[in-house]
Amino acid sequence: MEHQVELLAVGTELLLGNTLNTNAWDLSRLLSGMGLNVYHHTVVGDNPQRLQQAVEVAKSRADILITTGGLGPTCDDLTKKVVAGVFGLPLEFHPQCQQSIRDYFARSGREMTDNNLQQAYLPKGCTVLENRWGTAPGCAFCVDGVHVVMLPGPPRECIPMFREEAAPYLAQLTQGVIHSRTLRIFGLGESGVEQLLRDRMNALINPTLAPYAKEGEVELRITAKADTVEQAQTMIAPVEAEVRGLLGDLIYGADVSSLEEVVVPLLAQKGLTLGTAESCTGGLIAKRVTDVPGASAVLRGGVVSYTNAVKHQVLGVSQAVLDAQGAVCEEVARQMAQGAMRVLGCDLAVSTTGVAGPDSDERGNPVGLVYVALATPEGCEAVELHLGGAAQRRDRVRTMAANHALDLVRRYCQKK
Ligand code: ATP
Ligand code: MG
Repeated sequence: MEHQVELLAVGTELLLGNTLNTNAWDLSRLLSGMGLNVYHHTVVGDNPQRLQQAVEVAKSRADILITTGGLGPTCDDLTKKVVAGVFGLPLEFHPQCQQSIRDYFARSGREMTDNNLQQAYLPKGCTVLENRWGTAPGCAFCVDGVHVVMLPGPPRECIPMFREEAAPYLAQLTQGVIHSRTLRIFGLGESGVEQLLRDRMNALINPTLAPYAKEGEVELRITAKADTVEQAQTMIAPVEAEVRGLLGDLIYGADVSSLEEVVVPLLAQKGLTLGTAESCTGGLIAKRVTDVPGASAVLRGGVVSYTNAVKHQVLGVSQAVLDAQGAVCEEVARQMAQGAMRVLGCDLAVSTTGVAGPDSDERGNPVGLVYVALATPEGCEAVELHLGGAAQRRDRVRTMAANHALDLVRRYCQKK
């Protein structure tokens, strides 16, 4: 069946010429790329009567209606109420959305007001489209053969939400499959990745290319819509090659979920064993390596050398250096790694020493100052990391330190 899409943008600012309707522009390209025909663009102000008329007209001539704008907590944001009304659906409270909204405010450190919870009211029985880019959730429902998708107005929320949440919903209505390949990046933040790839991301329609920040890493997803998975893979391959050309070894793996999932098979493939000497990560690196099946073939063991006494007595770190510079310094990181290599009899050893927080250490080293070292048969390399910042939590500093250590191992093995 041929679908007929209507885009309905809600907002007086669009009619006054204050804001350009870029959502229509972007969504039209994305929808065409999915093989969906867009037949009408409508713009209506924040006026309930005229919005209702516009929705009734759209309902009579389209079978997919996508609205943008008017989902926010302010009183001019009336899209949900009016659209749900035209389709005969009451608004219903969604506790899960309320939690997501609370989480969003907690994460961004902003004050939440009661009217923000307005946004947790959505048409009864709808599919909630999660908004990870802002607060107002979107939704999708189908009544009398007409599919309705509601998205927030701000383009930086509307477009990623369409790609991530609405497109899979709409793809079910069309023939074919949606297939993705996810490249994982460590060592460059989301904005850095976006800056490198922005032009390509904007130009690509099918496949699409989109980055997502994840626990100090970035995921880059290439998604194609095609008749079969094989066709989608064929479409994804050249985009992947191009992205790899730009990002090089910042990409540590494809369709994997973590650095350790890459490191363990790499070590096995190169016939190398690993050991750890961990202070501020307290065994996290060894834990993460042993999360991966097959770790027994590559991990010799680990020393959690939390005190200076253990650093000195077990790993042989120089007491003089510990006394003079304290535990958090590059030299101690190096000696820990070299000591672990000797004590554990492994080919490679990684070490961490640093300040996980919440308070700076007795020498005044700031939270987030971490040294990571990798000892190898060729020598020892060390890096100084600044993982601090006002909002940095202890677990985050530790996770990032472990990521950096695993990435050193990954890079060494890949060059071998
Ligand atoms: P919020 O939670 O921010 O209130 P909302 O869904 O209620 O989101 P609106 O209040 O309608 O969205 O719009 C917020 C802003 O997003 C507008 O001021 C405008 O700058 C921008 N915007 C809205 N609609 C569009 C559009 N179609 N194209 C481009 N920008 C838009
Ligand atoms: Mg508005």
